[in-house]
Amino acid sequence: MKILVAVKRVIDYNVKVRVKADQSNVDLNNVKMALNPFCEIAVEEAVRLKEQGVATEVVVVSIGSKSCQEQLRNALALGCDRAIQVEAEDGPDSLSVARILAKVAEAETPGLILLGKQAIDSDNNQTGQMLAALLDRPQATFASEIKIEEGKASVTREIDGGLQTLKLTLPAVVTTDLRLNEPRFASLPNIMKAKRKPLEVKSADELGVSVSSNIKLISVEEPAQRQAGIKVSSVDELVEKLRNEAKVIA
Ligand code: AMP
Repeated sequence: MKILVAVKRVIDYNVKVRVKADQSNVDLNNVKMALNPFCEIAVEEAVRLKEQGVATEVVVVSIGSKSCQEQLRNALALGCDRAIQVEAEDGPDSLSVARILAKVAEAETPGLILLGKQAIDSDNNQTGQMLAALLDRPQATFASEIKIEEGKASVTREIDGGLQTLKLTLPAVVTTDLRLNEPRFASLPNIMKAKRKPLEVKSADELGVSVSSNIKLISVEEPAQRQAGIKVSSVDELVEKLRNEAKVIA
């Protein structure tokens, strides 16, 4: 069974995001970029399924400018076998990404497609769901456990206040949640080996998808600055301030 993993290049989660002066977007100048953490979990899961002998090949795909090859090489160093970059300059919207992924999936015929539950930059949480719909395949979102048995995937999902287990007929689309696994670090020899693994570059045109966006980003704002706190000397003073200044108690 082949596994296709979709990964996105995003701002590293440790970076404090800055908004551009004209509020048109976040500032990406000289900002450290990384593999989206949920995508890293998807890569780890695919590699573990290959190590268990469940999968035979792990193909990683990213849609973006040439710079996303850095994240594809990273995924190759973590154990993926080959990579595909689909060129797209300005960040395409989720539906365009899902359409491109659907074309790649039609060509690659994977038994399982893994995506992150969300990209931490746009926080859309919709690409996996759109892809499953376009391919007309079963989907399970927010996976915290994946088992493959007899042509079916048993997926445990984190839902409000509990867990839910689903059985899906393969091929299927699964999106990963935080507790699915703890991704490994790439070792130096594997980083070196990754440089020689195949990385194919395709255009969206070649796949027959036009990358148009029906969504326009209007503005981005910083969260409101938090006011400094104050110290009170007694419970009575606290209650008085909550009642008369903050007006949160009667
Ligand atoms: P989103 O729906 O944008 O929150 O993203 C959910 C998941 O879709 C990500 O974790 C990736 O697995 C996949 N994805 C989103 N954008 C891209 C992209 N440009 N290239 C490859 N995969 C993507």
